Amino acid sequence: MSRKHAFQFLDLPRTMPQRIPVELRTSGDWGELYGKFGKEDAQYQAGRCLDCGNPYCSWKCPVHNAIPQWLQLVQENRIHEAATLCHSTNPLPEVCGRVCPQDRLCEGSCTLEEFGAVTIGAVEKYIVDTALATGWRPDMTAVQPTGHTVAVIGAGPAGLACADRLAHAGITAVVYDRYEQVGGLLQFGIPSFKLDKDVIRRRRDVLEGMGVQFRLGVEIGRDISLQQLLDTHDAVFVGTGAYRYTDGGLDGQDLKGVLPALPFLVQNSRIVGGDDPQGRPIAGWEDQIALPDLNGKRVVVLGGGDTGMDCVRSAVRLGAAKVTCAYRRDEANMPGSAREVANAREEGVRFLFNRQPLSIEAGADDEVIGVTVIETRLGEPDANGRQNAVQIEGSESLLEADVVIIAFGFSPSVPSWLAEHGVEGQANGRILAGGKGKLPFQTAHPRLFAGGDAVRGADLVVTAVAEGRDAAASIVRLLAH
Ligand code: FAD
Ligand code: SF4
Repeated sequence: MSRKHAFQFLDLPRTMPQRIPVELRTSGDWGELYGKFGKEDAQYQAGRCLDCGNPYCSWKCPVHNAIPQWLQLVQENRIHEAATLCHSTNPLPEVCGRVCPQDRLCEGSCTLEEFGAVTIGAVEKYIVDTALATGWRPDMTAVQPTGHTVAVIGAGPAGLACADRLAHAGITAVVYDRYEQVGGLLQFGIPSFKLDKDVIRRRRDVLEGMGVQFRLGVEIGRDISLQQLLDTHDAVFVGTGAYRYTDGGLDGQDLKGVLPALPFLVQNSRIVGGDDPQGRPIAGWEDQIALPDLNGKRVVVLGGGDTGMDCVRSAVRLGAAKVTCAYRRDEANMPGSAREVANAREEGVRFLFNRQPLSIEAGADDEVIGVTVIETRLGEPDANGRQNAVQIEGSESLLEADVVIIAFGFSPSVPSWLAEHGVEGQANGRILAGGKGKLPFQTAHPRLFAGGDAVRGADLVVTAVAEGRDAAASIVRLLAH
């Protein structure tokens, strides 16, 4: 029963679910940081929604969730109906509820922000976790099989969202991935303290229950050709992500003790998850998968995005004695989520803003001893309106380190097996999809569609989900004719 009353938002503050105490986090606990709301907490927090009539939260949410409506259902304890509503816009709601940077999306545009935004993400997680635990499953009873099959390349959020929507349309989705587990960066990138890996296993079960098939440990272009997929399926969706590492070109980046961020996180995810650490390595990083012992070490992470935040917080859990994040702009311009920065600070990470790395320095045995950084100030805005970091002459200093992790970001690239079929890319490596005369997300090849990071560049789980979902709608339109 609803417990809502007017001005509930004034009587009851915004709260998040309880977090794992910092002493456990800093002594190696990899559990999901935020716990779960119970029924009472979820109802109270949902009851803080004003139902303001102009739901900016829904507009700012990339999948346009019906947020005020499912908050109302939570107050009425109609959780299965709330789950159905959540899934009507978002094929992976429990994942987004955990990993979306809500402070920049739904919660950041909540009318109540001044009083503490409604905890939308945590309630979304509550709805779907509770519904799945009490037997809710997507209702497939009205689905009419069409006899069509579609190959989905990549089991990341874009591919999984596409497969979900195809299954709802009566199309058999066969998902191929070069990794041994589903999830893409959800499994092998985002650490377990942000997203428990059981959540992904459960979602795989849900999708398999809907008839989605998985072919794992299969790399397209190596184990199977794209032509084979085109010959055996009616259409193909490409959701291969963005894995081209942004190379800072720093002197010393090949020294012993210098690691690129993604192989570090992937390898660590495998070890924490009890997987085979010798499982298939990330393409292009075969030689660099040995994870150094960080215990008692001084670790410097270069880069201030979400990947950088995951690296610093992983280093803390791996027992590093001192963890420093160096970023070339100021805190306000940092791309990482403010919530993640706050969590990292609480875990003892030191932030050095306005520091640009110049070179990585070597000791006598060619092992890393530190990073030479120079101080910066913010200058003129660039073409994207972002202020450049201008170096301050004579302000160089050495940041001592035993291990340096480089987290400058990633971009996509168009592999030769796609280019051979006429799929075009932009100069920045993004696959060209949609546009004049095309269905949304359709490439230059009429039966090939693409979405997620491969098309928009490294971005967010929720935007990949939105594109996979919408690409499936285009495939359904194509196959209906
Ligand atoms: P991916 O998740 O990269 O999935 C692509 C899949 O395609 C992979 O499984 C890959 O193995 C497979 N593949 C590629 N080539 C082939 C091939 N030839 N054959 C078969 N399979 C292939 N976003 C958030 O919203 N919140 C976060 O907190 C967050 N944290 C992040 C932390 C890190 C460390 C990183 C790197 C990213 C993070 N992101 C976060 C971004 C988010 O993970 C991505 O934007 C999202 O996963 C992109 O989804 P995708 O499906 O396009 O690609
Ligand atoms: Fe907010 Fe993300 Fe959920 Fe949308 S999907 S409501 S942005 S947490």
